[in-house]
Amino acid sequence: MKVLVADDDSACRLVAKAVVEGAGHECIVAEDGTAAWQLYQDERPNVVITDLMMPGLDGFALCRAIRGIESDSYAYLVLLTSHGARADVLAGMEAGADDYVTKPLDPFTLQTRLVAADRVTTLHSELAGYRRALAAQARTDPLTGLRNRLTMTDDLEVLHNLSERYGHNYSLAMCDVDDFKSYNDLYGHQAGDAAIKVVAATLAGACRGADAVYRYGGEEFLLLLPNQSLAGATAALERTRAAVLGLGILHSGSRSGTGMLTMSAGISANIDGHRVGVERLIHEADDALYAAKASGRNAVVVSEAIIPV
Ligand code: GH3
Ligand code: MG
Ligand code: MG
Repeated sequence: MKVLVADDDSACRLVAKAVVEGAGHECIVAEDGTAAWQLYQDERPNVVITDLMMPGLDGFALCRAIRGIESDSYAYLVLLTSHGARADVLAGMEAGADDYVTKPLDPFTLQTRLVAADRVTTLHSELAGYRRALAAQARTDPLTGLRNRLTMTDDLEVLHNLSERYGHNYSLAMCDVDDFKSYNDLYGHQAGDAAIKVVAATLAGACRGADAVYRYGGEEFLLLLPNQSLAGATAALERTRAAVLGLGILHSGSRSGTGMLTMSAGISANIDGHRVGVERLIHEADDALYAAKASGRNAVVVSEAIIPV
């Protein structure tokens, strides 16, 4: 652990430092509260052992400042208090401290506090790890590893707001695997899952750096192409459609005339002369997808809402 000792009394600092280092931990020291607060922000120690009465920031204010920071890691705070100052101890604990040791400092007592601090900070860091993993899981589709619809909604809002503010263009495409129901019926659900995975990987592989692909649902994917002209987006989707066909996944029930598993896409775009909301764009891309299906599948169609007349 990294331990910060804050005390204006040099003898007390020396004893505490010796105990901390004797227990195998790294020790940094501050001679007043202001320096301690600065050092805390720079070094993010796991444990802070602090005097209550110090020049600059006192121990109460230091505890409150540390607890006021939004952080993934938890600092274990130990107060150094004068013997008999019970009201101060209580106020310090209420300000955020976890424990206290009375002065004059007894090395053994401080050593025991470090054992508890190690256990509590380890638990907190494990919890933070689980929290991060859960948050990532909530935004990811488990089958394909693609970003899910929740992430899509957030990303679209951010991108749309940016495009409103700066007049940037973006395109989006709704993609859907053709005749997938009959693929499942013919080859089984497991083969269906495997096909979804490989189509997802193909879509992800066809994306440029700034593009993003999301699993919209079932065998539907949404492609988001920031700063992309309609012509650029159409070319990208044509390449993607060809790449899915190029996978060479046999599909005897395909109505596309290729005998292969294929994909269709509908495109819409937020561009000059066609500035609409996100929901409208998705709706337009969906209508264009429907037209691609009607045209015989294995096709890319641009929304008629933005085709120049
Ligand atoms: P179209 O060409 O018009 O898109 O026809 P389709 O058969 O693909 O469309 P439809 O929406 O009727 O069928 C989609 C099928 O996708 C139905 C559903 O069972 C299947 N599906 C959706 N999600 C999954 C999945 O995660 N795994 C598997 N194996 N199948 C899925
Ligand atoms: Mg389909
Ligand atoms: Mg579908």
